[in-house]
Amino acid sequence: MKLFTVGPVEMYQETLNISGRQLPYFRTNEFSQMMLYSEKTLLELAGASDDSRAVFLTASGTGAMEASIVNFLSQEDNALIIDGGSFGHRFVEICQRHHIPKTVVTLNFGEVLTREALEDAYTADITALLVNLHETSTGQLYDIKMISDFCRKHDIFLIVDAISAFLADPINMQEDGIDVLILSSQKAFALPPGLSTVLLSARAVNGVGRPNCEMLYFDLSTYLKNGERGQTPFTPAVGVLLALHNRLQEIKKTGLENVRKGIRDLALDFRSRVDNLPISIPNYPLSNAMTPIYFPMRNAKRVYDTLRKEFGLNVTPNGGILSDVLLRVGHIGNLSVEDNICLVAALTELLGRNNK
Ligand SMILES: *Cc1c(COP(=O)(O)O)cnc(C)c1O
Repeated sequence: MKLFTVGPVEMYQETLNISGRQLPYFRTNEFSQMMLYSEKTLLELAGASDDSRAVFLTASGTGAMEASIVNFLSQEDNALIIDGGSFGHRFVEICQRHHIPKTVVTLNFGEVLTREALEDAYTADITALLVNLHETSTGQLYDIKMISDFCRKHDIFLIVDAISAFLADPINMQEDGIDVLILSSQKAFALPPGLSTVLLSARAVNGVGRPNCEMLYFDLSTYLKNGERGQTPFTPAVGVLLALHNRLQEIKKTGLENVRKGIRDLALDFRSRVDNLPISIPNYPLSNAMTPIYFPMRNAKRVYDTLRKEFGLNVTPNGGILSDVLLRVGHIGNLSVEDNICLVAALTELLGRNNK
């Protein structure tokens, strides 16, 4: 089965080798040194300043989203949330759970996020903006320069979930004025799930503990403290961290720009190949990480099933109201142009079949 998913994705052979080995004990100097290298390298890749920090959580991405909210926001705040799909909506739900006041900019499917929409929603009590840079449920990539400019103008704390955008789309914490950047292992890092990282700007590091964090497991101040010596307060995802260390070395060797270009080239290659098929690609700005494909004949679910059963190809289905019309094709992980050719050939054959 070949995965054209957005996470977990096709893993690299080296990751599979590492994942098959016995785990070491982790309260050791060697492990600490590895963690310090990973923290430093992640901050470097994210364009963070020297006084920024990264913490490692054993949780899926949603855990890191929740940790970011409970450590920086309280009932005294008002969070402006971009709700352009299921991941944006998750921020809304987390704020609801923790009784954090919010203002929501809701985008209907196909609607592009504009500066006007942000300015219209703005009120002087807004203290933070929460956004999923790439709203993975639709493929829309928001304009980080525009969002960052808006936040600078109004002095708003900027929390960015870049879980599906990191390594695929340009992001720079310093240039984009990002205070908190959320990453997770199973998207473009192509690692097993279970490890999420929260990158904190100097302003964010100083702000940790401002609202009284009522959670024990997600209290970032204990992660910052333990991280000073390359450790975590609780058992980390040891195996995923070892594999991350390896991926980071590979990414450094290849160069971030080249990694991003590889993903972008795959995305552009796929998009050019489906030009003649009876499907369409939405015309909002897209992440390089995946391509949403729209099925006007409402046969998305059947196409998904047939691709899996007959061709051994696994694209990503949508849930909810888009389940009949949208499928998503990932371009992250260990994929090649040959894989694109294979997927497009299968799509061409089965869509031709449906037309007869
Ligand atoms: C995948 C993803 C997440 C994380 O979801 P989990 O299932 O909790 O790992 C969060 N935000 C975005 C934008 C994602 O693509």
